[in-house]
Amino acid sequence: MERKGQLIVISGFSGAGKGTVVKELVEKYGYSLSISATTRAPRPGEVDGKDYYFKTEAEFRNLIDYNGLIEWAQYVDNYYGTPRKFVEDELAAGKDVILEIEVQGASIIRKQYPDAILLFITTKDVETLRERLMGRGTESKEKVDQRISRAAEESEMIGNYDYIVINDDLNTCIDTVHSVILGGKCKRERNEDFIKALQEDFHAAN
Ligand code: 5GP
Repeated sequence: MERKGQLIVISGFSGAGKGTVVKELVEKYGYSLSISATTRAPRPGEVDGKDYYFKTEAEFRNLIDYNGLIEWAQYVDNYYGTPRKFVEDELAAGKDVILEIEVQGASIIRKQYPDAILLFITTKDVETLRERLMGRGTESKEKVDQRISRAAEESEMIGNYDYIVINDDLNTCIDTVHSVILGGKCKRERNEDFIKALQEDFHAAN
């Protein structure tokens, strides 16, 4: 029986390490990763078409107008959005697709794709988060403060998520996220069509 791929949303506070977790999930377990469009300037080392599709505001607006994004949101001073075609093609081809997106985008996905699995990755406390943001060295003190206050707002949205994973030890976090996804995919309500087909199979065999 043909099965559609699973849509997976991974959010988390900036600095909680979700980027690394997602990268490892792709490498270790073969998930398909959606590359977002953004109006943010590239950070040192970031590559267009690999880390993001870097766009001007006019180009981004154009993507929205042509229904080219399945969700988009403003984060701090920039726009971020998920290109539609890649996600829909991958799901149709049976691949499990990860979206690494922030909380507003996640709530749009929840409505548009009710079968999506939503995970939230966090540090164990705010102090650890601040240390990790400072340690990254790419952000000014002002930007770090902005990201912490944004994290405070985001913490109000954690109730929208199916699973919460604390990123204390990286490898444990990666394997936990993978296990959670496997478990989520096995939930009965995500397998109604399969159950029906299986029952029909049994009827036909008897
Ligand atoms: P950063 O600037 O650190 O790369 O990303 C800032 C935030 O935007 C992160 O929380 C990241 O997950 C989120 N983000 C990245 N791509 C998308 C997207 O396509 N849609 C939404 N809603 N958020 C995104």
